[in-house]
Amino acid sequence: MSTKTPLIIVGAGIAGFTLAKLWRQAEPNHPLMIITQDDGDFYHKPLLSVSLTKGKTPDNTISEYKKDLANSLNATILTQTKAIDIQDKKKVLVTDRGDFKYSKLIIATGSTPKKLPHLTNALSLNTLDDYRVLRPLMEKADTINIIGAGLVGCELANDLLSLNKTIRLVSDVPCPLSGLVPSPIGEALKDAMVEAGIEWYESTPPEADLTIQAIGLQHAPAISDALAVSPNGIIVDAHGKTNLADVYALGDCAEVHGVTLRYIGPIRQQAQAMVQTLLGNPTEISYPALPTVAKTPTFPVVVCRHPWIKGRWEVISDHDGIQMEQFDDQNKLIGFALGGNATQLRMQYQLPAWSLMEK
Ligand SMILES: Cc1cc2nc3c(=O)[nH]c(=O)nc-3n(C[C@H](O)[C@H](O)[C@H](O)COP(=O)(O)OP(=O)(O)OC[C@H]3O[C@@H](n4cnc5c(N)ncnc54)[C@H](O)[C@@H]3O)c2cc1C
Repeated sequence: MSTKTPLIIVGAGIAGFTLAKLWRQAEPNHPLMIITQDDGDFYHKPLLSVSLTKGKTPDNTISEYKKDLANSLNATILTQTKAIDIQDKKKVLVTDRGDFKYSKLIIATGSTPKKLPHLTNALSLNTLDDYRVLRPLMEKADTINIIGAGLVGCELANDLLSLNKTIRLVSDVPCPLSGLVPSPIGEALKDAMVEAGIEWYESTPPEADLTIQAIGLQHAPAISDALAVSPNGIIVDAHGKTNLADVYALGDCAEVHGVTLRYIGPIRQQAQAMVQTLLGNPTEISYPALPTVAKTPTFPVVVCRHPWIKGRWEVISDHDGIQMEQFDDQNKLIGFALGGNATQLRMQYQLPAWSLMEK
């Protein structure tokens, strides 16, 4: 048995497990502990908004169980355990089930859905446990209001079409996916959803049997007041390091060198660089241009929008779907957005990487 102090990861989402797997490959023997407030089973979160169409129940959404993960990772996984403080001078993580000494601490605690205070009965979809609650309610309800026409709201509305219910998508802006796709693609998505039977509201909708809020995510309160945070997440540098010695953060909870990207693609890049840094080879996190897919079969969308350069969008073609490109102020191609049949053009794009250090 190793007497070394474990590396501790808080959070058993895609960020926590991606880091755990990569780190274990590089460090076969060092003790590893994963601490999470949920059940510790692994599921691919993007499935939650397409599970009806894919025939996934909450249980068969799980792809790896905690016990198998603990074996394959040679790790201790503590579930139903909430991290509540960090004593950084002593290198101790405080939880509601005891204190744990760490050699390095990785925070991967995700983010939390924004809530409208007046919608007290509305539910959100951000975790498998949320889905366990929502699934029977969605099946039972005749009318469902979805508040928010972002990625999760639109995907869920598309998914619910398969249940033949009255689905109302409620937005405070005229176009879905605003902030992610340029308006011609948002308009086309809206038209396709309405044609497929989703009702679109920009004003208060009638009462429904079930209301789901999908108005975006926000930074969850950080484990410790000593951690430097911004409104978007735990502030980390380009190596993923927080302001506390030997404490790192990645995934939805982290603002990496001023940028928070709450998607799957960036997590792998962050974890790969962080493992190198943990091994003593300081490596800056960098991102290739990472496209996002909206799982909206009524009008599929793929977008690769530069995360911090606003740029200018141009329609390249709208004959068979919509093809748009994003240019910087030197007319260099920095992004694309494709809707409908034009999504097939995705592979033709080779975009410059998003270099955090050039920001
Ligand atoms: C419905 C839906 C669809 C999505 N679709 C896509 C998509 O198509 N493409 C895409 O790129 N992205 C998509 N995303 C976003 C993507 O899923 C997230 O960016 C990613 O899963 C975040 O992973 P994470 O590990 O950082 O956080 P999470 O998955 O939220 O994991 C956080 C973990 O931390 C634990 N935790 C939190 N606080 C504590 C604490 N104090 N103590 C102990 N444990 C704690 C939680 O229990 C959990 O295990 C989608 C998101 C949702 C909700």
